[in-house]
Amino acid sequence: TDAHLAAIEAARSLNAFVLETPDKARDMARAVDARIAKGEGGPLAGIPLGIKDLFATRDVRTTACSKILGNFVPPYESTVTSQLWRDGAVMLGKLNNDEFAMGSSNETSCFGPVVNPWRREGSNTALVPGGSSGGSASAVAALLCMGATATDTGGSIRQPAAFTATVGVKPTYGRCSRWGIVAFASSLDQAGPIARTTRDAAILMRSMAGHDPKDTTSVDRAVPDYEAAIGKSVKGMKIGIPKEYRLDGMPAEIEKLWTEGAAWLKAAGAELVEVSLPHTKYALPAYYIVAPAEASSNLARYDGVRYGLRVPGRNIGELYEGTRAEGFGDEVRRRVMIGTYVLSAGYYDAYYLRAQKVRTLIKKDFEDCFARGVNAILTPATPSAAFGVGEKGGADPVEMYLNDIFTVTVNMAGLPGIAVPAGKDAQGLPLGLQLIGRPFDEETLFSLGEVVE
Ligand code: GLN
Repeated sequence: TDAHLAAIEAARSLNAFVLETPDKARDMARAVDARIAKGEGGPLAGIPLGIKDLFATRDVRTTACSKILGNFVPPYESTVTSQLWRDGAVMLGKLNNDEFAMGSSNETSCFGPVVNPWRREGSNTALVPGGSSGGSASAVAALLCMGATATDTGGSIRQPAAFTATVGVKPTYGRCSRWGIVAFASSLDQAGPIARTTRDAAILMRSMAGHDPKDTTSVDRAVPDYEAAIGKSVKGMKIGIPKEYRLDGMPAEIEKLWTEGAAWLKAAGAELVEVSLPHTKYALPAYYIVAPAEASSNLARYDGVRYGLRVPGRNIGELYEGTRAEGFGDEVRRRVMIGTYVLSAGYYDAYYLRAQKVRTLIKKDFEDCFARGVNAILTPATPSAAFGVGEKGGADPVEMYLNDIFTVTVNMAGLPGIAVPAGKDAQGLPLGLQLIGRPFDEETLFSLGEVVE
């Protein structure tokens, strides 16, 4: 714990942590020592972790990296983090993220951007770590913590993992409790780990997963020993290669990495099959209807009365308006406006309902594929390597949204996905591959991920 606290202090220029909790960390570590002495350390005894600032932590400031939450200190602990502490983990502090997890570069945070510890060869240009879990990815990649919690609504665990050569797991919808996690789009949000290796991710997942009566969408299924899946033979497994993911203009190095990854799986005894997911091209536009719609509804609670920031006005209307105008950043406001528009009486059928229908078709594409015996699907994790801070999305937000082209389908279908480091681009930056699994079959993803990593 002390070594990690020192590393965090030495790497403050990355801006990965928005709150360091050294006293709490040392108290927790001492308490775990006492547990270990009694033989009750737990599977994560003494493992120092960073926590994305979207997870409510009792008596520790939780902001979702939004000004509107101000200095909100929750009187409760999220289920996922409480399970980590139950198993002996130690909290080092709270990690930076895009405001309310809206973004793909960690540049929308009210605490400023996170810097990726990786650099292009021969260059000192600061690169983004991806987002929204940019603090988690950067901190794990820079060895500031042994693992981190993260959340993934449309790629926010897998894309930053791919940009930093870390492993990120987005579990099946319902596998981890959403209770106590700041809501973005409730039908898409899932918590998961970012870790240094597939094995570490499997170990963390076991503690994070599990049924929680406080989240009605959490599923009551036994949590397997994910670590046991590491090193298990993948012989005879059928791996789908979806032809719709072969995008026009995809960089040659991404294409090459994808082919190599398939070859590694084949060499390990898996069988490769071309599959078709015909509705893939509609996933991103449909996601950017569904996610803002749910966000606009979830964010209605930030009214200046119940949480954090309050900008007084002459009446309640002015208080709402003043607080929300002052408290929300540009990207969040854009989402609230899009969401409110697509849910409005005159446009509901044309946008929101249509997007929900598309979502069903996307889900069915995967179901058809798995029904034909496919065990998992291999795709690139991102369409590019990490880009420069301030380089994308300035004039055109869609440029930023395109980062999630390979990851959003998984959330729309509620499936599990893992991003594993698989190679480097011509400038030495990490690139990742994604494996998509059947519902609640994270174990297969861990077995396959370990082969690719
Ligand atoms: N980048 C996507 C968005 O901005 C996904 C974010 C996420 O997964 N939290 O909505």
